[in-house]
Amino acid sequence: MSEKVTAKELSKKLFANKKNGLLTVSNEEIDLAEKYCAGYKAFLNSAKTEREAVSAAIALAEKNGFVPFCRNKEYKPGEKVYFNNRGKTIALAVIGKEPCEKGINITAAHIDSPRLDLKPNPLYEEIELGLFKTHYYGGIRKYQWPTTPLALHGVFALKDGTKINVCLGEDESDPKFVVNDLLPHLASEQSKRTLAEGIKGEELNVLVGSCPFKDDEGSELVKLNIMRLLNEKYGITEDDFLSAELEMVPAFKACDIGFDRSMIGSYGQDDRVCAYPALTAVFAVNNPEKTALAILADKEEIGSCGNTGLESDFLGHVIGDLTKMQGGDPSVAIRNSRCLSADVNAGMDPTFQDVFERRNASRLNYGVVVTKYTGARGKAGTSDASAEYVAEIRNMLDSNNIVWQTGELGKVDIGGGGTVAVYIANMGIDVVDLGVPVLSMHAPFETTAKLDVYMCYRTMHLFMQG
Ligand code: MN
Ligand code: MN
Repeated sequence: MSEKVTAKELSKKLFANKKNGLLTVSNEEIDLAEKYCAGYKAFLNSAKTEREAVSAAIALAEKNGFVPFCRNKEYKPGEKVYFNNRGKTIALAVIGKEPCEKGINITAAHIDSPRLDLKPNPLYEEIELGLFKTHYYGGIRKYQWPTTPLALHGVFALKDGTKINVCLGEDESDPKFVVNDLLPHLASEQSKRTLAEGIKGEELNVLVGSCPFKDDEGSELVKLNIMRLLNEKYGITEDDFLSAELEMVPAFKACDIGFDRSMIGSYGQDDRVCAYPALTAVFAVNNPEKTALAILADKEEIGSCGNTGLESDFLGHVIGDLTKMQGGDPSVAIRNSRCLSADVNAGMDPTFQDVFERRNASRLNYGVVVTKYTGARGKAGTSDASAEYVAEIRNMLDSNNIVWQTGELGKVDIGGGGTVAVYIANMGIDVVDLGVPVLSMHAPFETTAKLDVYMCYRTMHLFMQG
């Protein structure tokens, strides 16, 4: 005779039971999350572009004992190296006790974010106002960008090889820039446009000056005065815009959100909310069995293309360098490696719940999101992680009391997206997406929850420590 089992007992045993992490973790862990996120907010403020993120990563890495990888040296287990790809992508490794051929534990996040890039010939004058033409970078909702204070970040590369860094609009005392919009009184025609067309690409023009160069003669005196100021400050002439990478990004700082301060609002959290955890986690890796590798990549937002994106051979070359240093075969190392593609997922929005399928959508404070597949329509363009590999990751998360959930990017056929996972999978590496749920993804100001950020850090560390 078997004893009678109640429905309550049986459902506890058989049903999935995901809970809000803030109800399940200890107060100590909530304090740790709070402390961790102070560093995260500082990183957000100091690294708004991929170049700044690489510079910040190198400064922190060198403090943590990492040195630039040198091909004719042999690094011993426990030693820490980094590979700087053109100042826009960085890979950081801690050499394992086992040879790289046994496999490398890789975390991959991206450090580029949607923004307004300046065109190669940006500066012009119209009705005695100076403006910059822009070309948006990544998937933005254009209507979100006008009437928000902007800062100019980037670099001029001059013909003589010198580089001039630009960062204007971040200091309290700095001037800011702005894309203007129509007043409601005169917007009745514009308001008939669809939301997608509310502001068009060629209307994202940034106001940068209004004071003419004082002279009775000459034309374009406002533009001339702006060039005079740029020449004084940076030593550049108009032609130098051609060999520059200049970006307009939101000028505001990261801050807490909510009466309870449980969330963070900031520009560029996709994907610094995973890049910072991957970076700080590789710093915390200590004498791992297998080599740990964190890669922070550029160009994800425009398809991972180019020589600083993850579709390039850079990651393969890094693994090649590390493996050949030990006399090993990189293709063996690659085949035995595994990866967490550390990227955000769309957190379910309370106001726009109908685009999500609530049984599979990720939510704030439910921890890191494991996203088995991304893509669009019939899973087009995804790597779709194997069940076996997801089982391995599940086991790691559950065995270590990580708060985690599963996620899907919206309802079937409502949209879609992708991450770097597909490019890493194409190399032959086991990979699954794992990251943080975000509200207002790709907006100038995105929202995340502190507990999820901290759980992302813990996961990255567990995975790379092995
Ligand atoms: Mn992303
Ligand atoms: Mn994105």
